[in-house]
Amino acid sequence: MTKQAVLPSPYTWSVAAFLLLVFVNATAEDWCHLTNQYSHHKAQQLQLANQSLICDAKPTFKALPPATTLYPKERLLVVRGNKVEIQNLPVKVLLQAHGYSLVLKNTQAELKSDPHLSYIAVDDFQPIIKATTPPSKSSQSQIQTLVDQVDSASWLADIVTLSTWSRQTGSTGNASAANWIENQFSQFNLQTSQVTFNVGSSISNNIMGIQTGLTRPDDWYVVGAHMDSISGNDGNPEAPGAVDNASGCAGVIEMARIASQYSFAGSIIFICYSGEEQGLFGSEFHADTLINNGDDDKIKAALTMDMIGYIHNTQHELLVESSGNYQWLMNTLVQNAATYAPDLTVFTSTNYFGSDHVSYIDNGMPAVLSIDDDYALYPDYHRSTDLPENINTNQGEYIIKTNLATLAEVAEVLGTDDLIYRNGFEQSVK
Ligand SMILES: [Zn+2]
Repeated sequence: MTKQAVLPSPYTWSVAAFLLLVFVNATAEDWCHLTNQYSHHKAQQLQLANQSLICDAKPTFKALPPATTLYPKERLLVVRGNKVEIQNLPVKVLLQAHGYSLVLKNTQAELKSDPHLSYIAVDDFQPIIKATTPPSKSSQSQIQTLVDQVDSASWLADIVTLSTWSRQTGSTGNASAANWIENQFSQFNLQTSQVTFNVGSSISNNIMGIQTGLTRPDDWYVVGAHMDSISGNDGNPEAPGAVDNASGCAGVIEMARIASQYSFAGSIIFICYSGEEQGLFGSEFHADTLINNGDDDKIKAALTMDMIGYIHNTQHELLVESSGNYQWLMNTLVQNAATYAPDLTVFTSTNYFGSDHVSYIDNGMPAVLSIDDDYALYPDYHRSTDLPENINTNQGEYIIKTNLATLAEVAEVLGTDDLIYRNGFEQSVK
């Protein structure tokens, strides 16, 4: 038996449309209780029925509504990941900002688990905070001296070199790049090594360069970024991975190049991880090794960088991500950005996910990620077209300056005032 379709009359349609409009508008207002005029350039992306769904009480940038009546809450979800990946999910994207998407799940659809995506329940989502200019901190001359040496041309040259290899975990290109990185570290007189670990049935290496601290050698500071790359989103297996993540790995090299010319109180572990794209294998291996050796308490801070060379428009924006337990570390980055890279607008998020900071945080070690705020909009993500020509050199320079200043502060770069010469050897008087 076939059911006879009854078409609604035009009148029924117009009443329904009117009610829907009222409902959507009222709900959007209810969601947002938007009472201020504060606007953000991303707000244009976040429109539904001409209502902004950002609840935006300065300085809190809250991308999610507190309550949802427009859609059942169990169908709403925040997805963290590049929009290229999210496009393939059985969801409708409602809002997108700072790499987070509020989506409506298709009923009964299963969301695949994927190392490049994470799903956050609406109620668990923490507000993204736009960092306001912190109380002015006078720049310290020794830190300024280091920051002034950040050379975006040298950083870009390293990205160009790294991008000549397809650096998939376990590939020969990855191994060649690893040797090149180790060679860079040894030119800076760091104590270098390649540490092998398993990724499924293949093996890969983390590349490490260690600089021993002068007065607090058992306080360890990590500067890390993944060097492996992945492709396939455009059907082409070539994976130059310039933004993701030659940019971050070259950032580690640039910081090592400068820091290695100075003495620090604490020890610094410069590390380029492999196996990140398969699920943070390299950084997890490093964190496990620290724990197995009883060294995890020595880690005072890990500064990680992933995708630090892309801007979607003309704004230089950085997303700083950690756990709420390490708010102090996020604050340190925010303050150093304001002091040493004032052209950078910084957002902080405690919804940490998807990159190498997670391996430390989940094992109780303080860590923070720096990532382009627009990383989720990068169109060449995981494609053969992720090339050096997409790199914005100012963006990388500002983020590296922020991280280098933070390293110099927490690992404590020693100035000439701190050192005296005895028997021809530098010794600290601190
Ligand atoms: Zn990455």
